Amino acid sequence: MPIANCKRCGRLYNRAGRDICPECIRQEDAVLLEIRQYLKKHPQANIYEVAEGTNATYEEIVEFLRDGRLILRDNPNMAYPCERCGTLTQSGRLCANCTQVMAKGLGHATATLHRDETQGKRGKGFLSR
Ligand SMILES: [Zn+2]
Ligand SMILES: [Zn+2]
Repeated sequence: MPIANCKRCGRLYNRAGRDICPECIRQEDAVLLEIRQYLKKHPQANIYEVAEGTNATYEEIVEFLRDGRLILRDNPNMAYPCERCGTLTQSGRLCANCTQVMAKGLGHATATLHRDETQGKRGKGFLSR
């Protein structure tokens, strides 16, 4: 079994699939449970409030949500930015829009859009040359 440094606490451990050690997995599971219980009591809470009310940090909660380890049911305020465009989303790494774009293999479409937006400035640059 390969030995690795735990990504979370830095300790050496026998790597078995996950990139964090068994102790951290235990801690994470406990924190996840805490978050779920907090959300049950406070369904309207946002991520900052959950971070304050539990042992989890804001980043950890976002990571749980992005990894799909924390699934939201009726928590309209638990929104975090899409990794691609920054639009607030509630599941996965990307917002619904980006997920669709990526699924269609149109990864370039948004890039083109962004280019169009800056085209005006660039166009003037070309003219003044
Ligand atoms: Zn660890
Ligand atoms: Zn997005």
